[in-house]
Amino acid sequence: MIYFQDNTIRDGMQQRAVNKSIAIKKQIIDEISRTRINSVEIGMCDSLQDLSILSEYMNILRKDQNGVVLTRLIETSIDLGAELHSKYPNTVLKLLVPISKMHIEEKLKTEKTIYFKRLERILKYSQQKELNIDIVLEDSTRADKQVLFEVLSIVSNYKIGFVTLADTVGCSTPTEYGSLFKEVRNKFPRLKLSAHCHNDLGLATANTISAIINGATQVETTFLGIGERAGNTSIEEVVAVLYKKELNETELNLKSIYKTSNKIREILEYKIPPTKPIIGSNIFVHESGIHQDGTLKNIEMYQYILPSELGIPNSTNYSISRISSKKILYQYFKNIVGSEIDVDDLIQFYRHLSKVTDKLTPEDCLELYQFRERKKWKY
Ligand SMILES: [Zn+2]
Repeated sequence: MIYFQDNTIRDGMQQRAVNKSIAIKKQIIDEISRTRINSVEIGMCDSLQDLSILSEYMNILRKDQNGVVLTRLIETSIDLGAELHSKYPNTVLKLLVPISKMHIEEKLKTEKTIYFKRLERILKYSQQKELNIDIVLEDSTRADKQVLFEVLSIVSNYKIGFVTLADTVGCSTPTEYGSLFKEVRNKFPRLKLSAHCHNDLGLATANTISAIINGATQVETTFLGIGERAGNTSIEEVVAVLYKKELNETELNLKSIYKTSNKIREILEYKIPPTKPIIGSNIFVHESGIHQDGTLKNIEMYQYILPSELGIPNSTNYSISRISSKKILYQYFKNIVGSEIDVDDLIQFYRHLSKVTDKLTPEDCLELYQFRERKKWKY
C-alpha cells in the first residue's frame, strides 16, 4: 500500500504568483479532506499565531487524516507542536533535518557532531512528550552517504513514522534516486521511507515512481504539480502511473483525484500548460490527420489514457488545421455550410491557402471562399 502525503498548501504554495491566503488554503484543505489522501502537510509552527492558524486547518481535516507540521529542531517549536497534538491527536511533527554539507555548514552554520547531538536531544525530547514524529532529511540526494547513514542510525533508535529522503533541488535521476532507496532499505529495513521530489530536471514523477519500486511506502505530492521553481511531483501523474501500470495499491482513485484537481485549479485560478500530462487541456486533442483517422478507427490507436478513466465522457476532440484528416475537415465544414457549398473544393482551398497564409482559421478561410465564389475569382 502506498500512502500519499499532500504538500500543496505548504511546499507547493511556495510557488510564485499563487494566492497564499489562509482562506484559500482552507478551501484547498476542505477539498483534500474529501479524498482518501492519508496526510496533509499544513505548515510550520513557530509562534502562537501559527498555532491558532494550524488549529483551524486541523479542524477541517478528517480525524483519520494526519495533519503534518514541519518542525525545526528547536524545543519551543516542539512545545507548540505538542500543544496542537494535545487537541488533535492526528497531528504529526515532521522534523526538518537538512543533511548535505552545504546545508549543515553554510545554512545552519554548525558542524556535524554538534548538529547530530542536537538532533538526538530533540528526538529524546519529542519521545518524552509521546508525539508522532516523522523526519525529512532535506537535500538527501546531495548528502555524503556516510553522513546520511550516520543520521539514519541515530534515527533508527527512536519511534519514527516516515523518514523522507528529499530530492530538494530536483537533481536526481530515477536510477540514482531508486538505488538510494534500495541501499537505505537494505541497511535500515525497519524504517518506513517517503519520497519527496522536485521537478527541476522534469524527473519528479519518474523519481517518485522509482522510489516506490525500490521500497518507498509514502510519496509526497502536490496538486497540479505546483511548487518552488519547476514545481513538485504532481499527484495526478503518480496516481495515473500507479493505476495504468497496476504497480502498487493506494486508497486513491484516479477519477476522484482528477475531480479534486480541477476544483483546486479553480480555487487557485491557476493556469495549467495545455500539454501538462493528465490535467492539461490538450491531452485529448488530436491535430494531425493520421492521428485523427487512427483514433476515429480505434480511440486507443493514439490515446493511452482514455477520457472515461478520468471520469470525463466523450472529451476526445479533433482540432481543425491544415494537417487535419479529410474526414474531420469534411465533417467540420459540412456542419457549417450544409449543401450550399462544394465541401471537397472548400477543403482543397483551405489546405492550399493555409500553406501560404500564417494563422489562417477555418472560419476566415470559409469567408474568403464565399467571397471568392461571389466574385468568381480563381486561386
Ligand atoms: Zn520540497
